[in-house]
Amino acid sequence: MSSVSNPKRLGVMGGTFDPIHHGHLVAASEVQHWFHLDEVVFVPTGQPWQKTGRDVTPAEDRYLMTVIATASNPVFSVSRVDIDRAGPTYTVDTLRDLRAQYGDDTELFFITGADALGQILSWRDHDELFDLAHFVGCTRPGHDLSAVGLPEGKVTLVEVPALAISSSECRQRVAGDEPIWYLVPDGIVQYINKRGLYVEA
Ligand code: ATP
Ligand code: MG
Repeated sequence: MSSVSNPKRLGVMGGTFDPIHHGHLVAASEVQHWFHLDEVVFVPTGQPWQKTGRDVTPAEDRYLMTVIATASNPVFSVSRVDIDRAGPTYTVDTLRDLRAQYGDDTELFFITGADALGQILSWRDHDELFDLAHFVGCTRPGHDLSAVGLPEGKVTLVEVPALAISSSECRQRVAGDEPIWYLVPDGIVQYINKRGLYVEA
């Protein structure tokens, strides 16, 4: 259907996005700019294997919030590859699926925050990960990467304007009846209210 050609340089922003917030959007926008990416695709996770201990919001809500938050940006898009795949999400599967979808002419840049990057060596098939994509690690307030031992030359670190926003904090605020205006896009505040999300932490 689409007559638009495949992006040559595609950013991939994986996340739970429960909810998506301005930290995610600023990180994606910065990396898009500095790495001259044609597009950044946001990929909400299916059932996140590293987030045990709390109920993650249904994938469809997280997907819709991601669509709402990114809709106004012509170079942002959202993919369902992870939420439509059964079972827990592994980044290696995300990248394999996107590679298959976009073809070999598209270079993938996996965008990740410093906290997630710190766990990278615990990810499944982490050797293959570095063959599938360049990794761009965004510094995030409160996360020091110097001791992580990332493989040399495989990861580029980018300093993103300090936005000390996390989804956890947004959820806690909603549960505590505190405002999340301006931490997330307006449409996300409204979607959360409309669906009654996060009322109980
Ligand atoms: P939670 O608090 O539930 O862990 P989160 O805010 O970390 O949520 P995720 O969906 O887990 O959000 O994050 C998706 C990706 O975005 C991860 O790579 C994470 O490191 C990155 N990220 C999250 N918040 C920020 C931020 N404020 N600045 C830069 N990167 C961020
Ligand atoms: Mg997180």
